Amino acid sequence: MDYKNNILETIGNTPLVKINKLVEDIPALVLAKYETFNPGNSVKDRMAVKMLADAEEKGLIKPGGTIVEGTSGNTGMGLALAAIVKGYKMVCTLADKQSKEKIDILRAVGCEVIVCPTSVAPEHPDSYYSTAKRIAAERPNSWYVNQYDNLANSQAHYESTGPEIWNQTDGKVTHFVVGVGTGGTISGVGKYLKEQNPNVKIWGVDTYGSVFKKYHETGEFDENEIYPYITEGIGEDILPKNVNFDIIDGFTKVTDKDAAVYTRRLAEEEGMFLGNSAGAAMKGLLQLKDEFKEDDVVVILFHDHGSRYIGKMYNDEWMKANGFID
Ligand code: PMP
Repeated sequence: MDYKNNILETIGNTPLVKINKLVEDIPALVLAKYETFNPGNSVKDRMAVKMLADAEEKGLIKPGGTIVEGTSGNTGMGLALAAIVKGYKMVCTLADKQSKEKIDILRAVGCEVIVCPTSVAPEHPDSYYSTAKRIAAERPNSWYVNQYDNLANSQAHYESTGPEIWNQTDGKVTHFVVGVGTGGTISGVGKYLKEQNPNVKIWGVDTYGSVFKKYHETGEFDENEIYPYITEGIGEDILPKNVNFDIIDGFTKVTDKDAAVYTRRLAEEEGMFLGNSAGAAMKGLLQLKDEFKEDDVVVILFHDHGSRYIGKMYNDEWMKANGFID
């Protein structure tokens, strides 16, 4: 018999899928690392399990304890699956700009969900960062995950996502393009790939309203770069410890409109029904087209699934209300 002992054992070993129509103008081979095949439908399952295992090893959480995290949904989903299998309780705090689907999904897998205001500074007591910290401090035997600064996050990608991409491309990968939020994906994959071949170029996709691109280019944390934006999952108003700026060759910024439009184009033209950060990453890759030559092998990573965005980027009324389609 061929079976897994529990759902967590199905995490990883996701396929690489060629992108065809959307990259007709690009001479290189463009391959998508298709992370929605994970059981929580996102790449975040990988780091959720790794961060929990690390906390168990360090004695930060005991059997029956409570996991607390501020999450846009996907990390919460991964942690929730791990919590169910391993017997923990799970509390998620998230910002009220996140899609309703993400909140409903977290509740469906047994999370207690606390919705916090988006438009307050991270240090404000009502922000989803501060709320998660407070709950973890108040409840006995609870552990605040902190995916931003918890380096087991990027380590998960160094140990699994990076080696998978290297092996699946027979070491021929020349560029890696990916949206950046906590920085775990780009930093873990980027470090692994650069160790195998220092010539591999690592490109981050950022959003307008986020600090990453300017910080990478100037070393300045410019508060004027920070303003509310619609794109989900990427960009930050803080500098997470998981972003290793040294292994990143450059950032490109994508507008909310382009991210939304390209999310739909991936579904319509490639049959890839994906989340909003996939659209941002796809448009970011197209903005970088002059970087790619004929024999290059460009890997783009798609973080999550389209089902979480049916009330938003896949909804005509929502798209019109935001001025993204006529
Ligand atoms: N896309 C989505 C949908 C995400 O949830 C995240 C995580 N916030 C990212 C992209 C960015 O990934 P990372 O945190 O590893 O930088």
